[in-house]
Amino acid sequence: MITLKDIDKYYASGFSRTYVLRNINLEVQEGEFISIMGPSGSGKSTLLNIIGMLEEPSSGEYYFLDKPVHKIKEKERTQLHKSFIGFVFQSYHLIDELTVYENIETPLLYQDVKSSDRKAKVADILDKFNIVGKKDLFPTQLSGGQQQLVGIARAVVASPKLILADEPTGNLNSRQGEEIMELFQRLNQEGTTIIQVTHSEKNATYGSRVIDLLDGSVVKA
Ligand code: ADP
Ligand code: ADP
Repeated sequence: MITLKDIDKYYASGFSRTYVLRNINLEVQEGEFISIMGPSGSGKSTLLNIIGMLEEPSSGEYYFLDKPVHKIKEKERTQLHKSFIGFVFQSYHLIDELTVYENIETPLLYQDVKSSDRKAKVADILDKFNIVGKKDLFPTQLSGGQQQLVGIARAVVASPKLILADEPTGNLNSRQGEEIMELFQRLNQEGTTIIQVTHSEKNATYGSRVIDLLDGSVVKA
């Protein structure tokens, strides 16, 4: 599903370069559940953002579903992202002015899914995530765990092939965190590929493989 070849990411600082990622070579197969681990500042979020097409590498090749992401135009990249990737953020990134229902519906609006199909899909996800009773509430009326459930519901409503999650349980208590990990496990068993950034050894046990980063390089994959 994913092939990264000699990916570098650096920032110019004066006449030198500060490398955030260096010589990353990585393959991810469809159906994997991967945890990216490593100390703070080792480049985990940057790697996840590059895979999610939210950031561009400085050099190297990136193939997603056999498409050369490093070569295609921004518009096509956006389309790839929208069609195949769901992104989950540590701080949820919900829209406070929209209800739970409307937040979850947002990606379907971006994809021009017709109204009756949108209703069916959102209803299905609300039911699956057991949050039907919350649909008319606003994010600020929910607990952190419930907000993250909505964040994940929004990420999966359009049936992405790949879920990318940056510290998805970072702001949750351990019970809420376990529920989120169990949900990821279920989605993975149903066929969704998952890549999470996590500091938690416990969270990593839900996945099938760990990629360890240190100072921008993969030290174990
Ligand atoms: P992690 O997720 O492992 O904590 P990040 O990918 O967030 O690591 O960041 C890795 C490094 O890249 C950090 O040292 C950070 O300061 C640096 N970095 C991120 N963005 C920029 C930027 N725009 N300019 C310069 N350095 C940056
Ligand atoms: P807009 O006014 O921006 O077009 P709407 O409020 O009409 O947005 O909502 C878009 C669609 O989502 C409509 O079909 C609406 O019926 C449906 N919808 C919005 N909120 C809810 C909700 N809480 N429960 C059920 N359906 C909803």
